[in-house]
Amino acid sequence: MVEKESMIDKIKRLMYKRENIRNIGIVAHVDHGKTTTSDSLLAGAGMISYETAGQQLALDYLNVEKERGITVQNADVNMVHEYEGDEYLINLIDTPGHVDFGGHVTRAMRVIDGAVVICDAVEGVMPQTETVLRQALREKVKPVLFINKVDRLIKELKLGPEEMQKQLIKIISGVNTLIKKMAPEEYKEEWQVNVQDGTVAFGSAVDKWALSFPFMKRTGLTFKDVIDAYNNDKLDGLRDKAKLHVVLLDMIVKHLPSPIEAQKYRVPKIWRGDLESDVGKSLVACDPNGPTVLVVSRVMVDPQAGEITTARIFSGTVERGQDVYLLGAKRQTKIQQLYLFKGAQRFVIDKVPAGNLLGVSGLKDATSGETVTTVPDMEPFEQIKHIFEPVVTKAFEAKSSKDLKKLVDALSAISKEDPTIRVEIDRESGQNLVSGLGELHLEIIQNQLKEKYGLDVDTSPPIVIYRETITRQSPTVMGKSPNKHNHLFFVMAPLPDKIRDAILKGDIPEGRIKKKDDKLIELLMKHGFSREEAKSVKVIKNGNIFMEQTRGIVHIGEIMEYLMQGFEQTIEEGPLAKEPITGIQFVLVDAKLHEDAIHRGPAQIIPALREALREAFMQADPTILEPVQKIRIDVPMEYMGAVSKLIQGRRGQMISTDQEGDEHLVIIAKLPVAEMFGLTAELRGATAGRGVWSLIDSHFEKVPKSLESEIIKKIRLRKGLDNT
Ligand code: GDP
Repeated sequence: MVEKESMIDKIKRLMYKRENIRNIGIVAHVDHGKTTTSDSLLAGAGMISYETAGQQLALDYLNVEKERGITVQNADVNMVHEYEGDEYLINLIDTPGHVDFGGHVTRAMRVIDGAVVICDAVEGVMPQTETVLRQALREKVKPVLFINKVDRLIKELKLGPEEMQKQLIKIISGVNTLIKKMAPEEYKEEWQVNVQDGTVAFGSAVDKWALSFPFMKRTGLTFKDVIDAYNNDKLDGLRDKAKLHVVLLDMIVKHLPSPIEAQKYRVPKIWRGDLESDVGKSLVACDPNGPTVLVVSRVMVDPQAGEITTARIFSGTVERGQDVYLLGAKRQTKIQQLYLFKGAQRFVIDKVPAGNLLGVSGLKDATSGETVTTVPDMEPFEQIKHIFEPVVTKAFEAKSSKDLKKLVDALSAISKEDPTIRVEIDRESGQNLVSGLGELHLEIIQNQLKEKYGLDVDTSPPIVIYRETITRQSPTVMGKSPNKHNHLFFVMAPLPDKIRDAILKGDIPEGRIKKKDDKLIELLMKHGFSREEAKSVKVIKNGNIFMEQTRGIVHIGEIMEYLMQGFEQTIEEGPLAKEPITGIQFVLVDAKLHEDAIHRGPAQIIPALREALREAFMQADPTILEPVQKIRIDVPMEYMGAVSKLIQGRRGQMISTDQEGDEHLVIIAKLPVAEMFGLTAELRGATAGRGVWSLIDSHFEKVPKSLESEIIKKIRLRKGLDNT
């Protein structure tokens, strides 16, 4: 008990020493050892029992929940590490996520400054290694590398010291290629990981040892010692000399940035406000005396305590009872409790300064990415952009009618926790429509409902989510208001690819542009817009842009709000099949408006815009886009023919096939989501259970011309739309 309190006191003290704080996450391809490694770190730092680390899975909250009946699902932790005679506070965020789904990882990136990327020494770089790295680099989160499961190189592959080195170097260069490809321009070189400076460590999380080059130099340990330890049963000695948590935490302290360092370059990337304003200066400086600003990462819905969020304080000092605004939810609230996290346990604390991660309760309606602040009119942090959008929907229905309300509540909780899930209630049928990244993702949700909430549900067959777009520029079209007193003139054109891709990738932020935004104008120009075009942009939404390029229209400013609103609403449902519109630029080029404001209200302007948008769309060669996923299939050589047949049978395309080792084949292929249902089972069947696939990328492509009208007809039929 005494020991526990002193640890909490220590953490409280270190919270004020910002240069000694590290906010970090551990990310990996599934099964590469994230949980095992996290546990060893916790154990080493005295947070859980050392002997049981690895079996205990302290960060694996569902497990904890099952085993000990704890309902608080938290897996974040604040811990202390000593390095070169100084104490450091390491705030570790758990980044749970299923094999294919990056939602949890993405939102964790917003609140951390550094990431330990774990890579299996045998498997090497896998699809999710790339995905998690991409997510980190996009948020300017600095990576270091831990190559795990080195014991497998010795025990399974029986490699000698040189071959071992070769394999490690191959993985390192694979990771560096990705960093070069995906890092922000200024960090492509600086953030390369390498053995010499110690930004790479390798070891075995299960056997609880790790090494880095600086550590080897210091201790005189070599690859030979490692091999020797395995071959001659001297693992205890190795574990003692090269403690996993010491090597990894040293690497974290030495190579990952403190919040003071990181906020200088991260704030301009993730916040678009004025850096010279009071709040801007305080954010960049990570100033505990500035206005309070926090960003919510994870929202846990606890049956007893309500919503508990994990949040990062970017500025100011948060106190219990403080009045704050939720900028996204547009409401005011009071901070109820602040917590420190210690695995599944939490400790109440009174106040916490900038640069830290902590638990907060009282933020009702907050979702991940929410900006919470004492400054109601500040610019919120940029929306967290998830790299994949939902592409498949199923209707969920409770098996028992008494569970109706329970299902709605559970789905609402799940969608708060996993932002890549979207839940809507169908207006006509009253069904819960749940959308996710694939059939498997929705199956996981279904399992979660059963296991966590005790809910049995029936689901409909999966429905693919399409998009509508155009292929050429429209002539000028006119929209007339219902009272016939206002005439609006528009032109629609396909959005240039470079701009569209940058929006979808999150490089160009979405939202309304209310006042002149020089940074955004620069950004749009960098991607190919002229200055005039960039300045005329009013709304960026779902990969579409609304622009206003009229000249000398006196009242234009007064109807702008209605135009923006009309645009945002109309692009939700396209004219072809009421699927969302994407990839258009819609430009207001002229307007004739009634003199009297009363005759040009929203009830006049919005319908005029809607009519014109639909007409322009239909005159611009519209077409339908379908979701297509790039996947990786791992399979023994002998099944190549079977897999290639399977892919072709599903309208798929092989992109590459690579042989790894003697008999292992890696196939990269592209398949329309509409043809991916049942893929897992068919692949298993075709490969005697030995083929597995995982998602690399997801995007929209034009459907083949020959299928277009049939697809549109099918969607319209399903939606009960007129099909004549
Ligand atoms: P996660 O999915 O990334 O969290 O991976 P886990 O930590 O759950 O590990 C996946 C599997 O790999 C488990 O069966 C672990 O016991 C095993 N594992 C983890 N680290 C090592 C290691 O260093 N060596 C070996 N041989 N197995 C490991």
